[in-house]
Amino acid sequence: MPLPYDRRSGLPADILPVTQTHMSNPVIVVHYHELWLKGGNRRFFLGKLFTALRQSLQGISIERIEQPGDRFLVRLGDAALLDEALRRVERVFGVAYYAVARPAEREMEALCRAAWDEIGPLAFATFAVRAKRSDKTFAHSAMEIESAVGRYLLQKLHGQGRDVRVHLKHPEVTCRIEVTPGPLLVYAQKIPGAGGLPPNTAGRMTCLLSGGFDSAVAAYHMIKRGSHLNFVHFYGTGARPGESSLHVASGLVRTLVPYQFRAKLYRVPFDGIQREIVRYAPEKLRVLLYRRMMLKITELIARRSRSLALVTGDSLGQVASQTLRNLAAIDAVATMPVFRPLIGTDKTEILATARKIGTYDISSEPFHDCCPVFLPRSPELYGSAKQLAEAENGLDVPGLIDQGIRGITVQRFAYTDGQVHAAEPTGLREGQSSTAVA
Ligand code: ATP
Ligand code: MG
Repeated sequence: MPLPYDRRSGLPADILPVTQTHMSNPVIVVHYHELWLKGGNRRFFLGKLFTALRQSLQGISIERIEQPGDRFLVRLGDAALLDEALRRVERVFGVAYYAVARPAEREMEALCRAAWDEIGPLAFATFAVRAKRSDKTFAHSAMEIESAVGRYLLQKLHGQGRDVRVHLKHPEVTCRIEVTPGPLLVYAQKIPGAGGLPPNTAGRMTCLLSGGFDSAVAAYHMIKRGSHLNFVHFYGTGARPGESSLHVASGLVRTLVPYQFRAKLYRVPFDGIQREIVRYAPEKLRVLLYRRMMLKITELIARRSRSLALVTGDSLGQVASQTLRNLAAIDAVATMPVFRPLIGTDKTEILATARKIGTYDISSEPFHDCCPVFLPRSPELYGSAKQLAEAENGLDVPGLIDQGIRGITVQRFAYTDGQVHAAEPTGLREGQSSTAVA
């Protein structure tokens, strides 16, 4: 449901002016990049970022979230939940950096002491004090605060024999002060945020998710740019029970869903389709034909779930199926844009991201998504669309697509109260075919 927005600030209307806040509760200051705030988009993006913060922090007691200018202040209702709140904020796309602010009484002496508590333990040679006064009822101007606190800190630092100077242009440490209604806020330690654009701002896409490292990382990059992904996974049953790749695919979606709050995983049985290709098509073209079938089936799912593009984890030249010619020959069947965010990255970079986002261990689990006996000994490196289309003439492509679609099961995921909930997979409705994928 769209939120009502306040016209002036561009924020959802349920952010109310502060009346009373607890002095001791921690406040998380959340900064965003200004880049995406130009012009008329401001209200839309800020609303989405606010929603994302609120959804991420669901279940944690929050007094309120305010926006006194170009940042959000998340006032926690319970100091004990600070660490958990920080773990959640860390994953919100659109956040450039965040900080935990130290609250201080609304008078200069208390403010100076809080500023000292904040920067005293840090090592630096130059510093500056920056104050922002969104509450004009405070007796001192921003400049008065900066110079009074700056003088106090300098005196304390010199008193300790530290060789420290004020440097207004390029300080190593900036002691930031926020004058908002309620306690004054002081912070100096910035924590880098997840970056990117706020979740669900760029439109819908459908990701071909294998169990490997690459496609989960590709998904992460696209979600980071604000797109909302649904996932399609083609699975083989594996030679022995428990060898199927389904648990890996759902583990990967579980890891990605906190970034975008909801996701669907479409699970398509692929054994039967592969067997037909193995039987009736030239051996060296198998993988390329698998990929074209995957693209065709995924497009049908994407269209029905109102996606505008597909996402894959291909990286140029990584394996035989990812030479330029082969990628072009595969894409010849696509009618939607196919995005490959990893196309120019090395495997080492991909693995580093997989470790960072927590998909590495899941993708390392043993599984079969594509039975190894089906893989060609010497795959084609320079396929062409014409050659693949000719090979497909020997197959019942519409029949195979229908077979894949009829076998689809869908698993829905939601991230609420800091937990990922996965529903039991359900089948598509009786009698559904390639023309009716929900
Ligand atoms: P890795 O290369 O780390 O084993 P990968 O995900 O890149 O994993 P590839 O065999 O290189 O796997 O496949 C290239 C791309 O094709 C994948 O990134 C993915 O987008 C898509 N793909 C491959 N296999 C599947 C599958 N079983 N289900 C869905 N998509 C798949
Ligand atoms: Mg790969």
